[in-house]
Amino acid sequence: MPLSVVDLYRDILPKTNCGDCGFSACLAFASIVVSEKLPLGNCPHIEAGVIENCQKELDEQLCF
Ligand code: SF4
Repeated sequence: MPLSVVDLYRDILPKTNCGDCGFSACLAFASIVVSEKLPLGNCPHIEAGVIENCQKELDEQLCF
């Protein structure tokens, strides 16, 4: 099932809006990950295994 911006924000991102990824809010980061293919790993606060699984799904949904 495709991962949406809301899925990423709600289920994956820490929602701390810390800014370490270069965006001022997790929701903005999620939006760019989905629309511009920014790597999910640019957020340093997600477990490696979660990044791996989600990135695989994101990569597949972006290859039409
Ligand atoms: S680094 Fe992660 S937790 Fe911090 S604002 Fe970006 S997406 Fe949110």
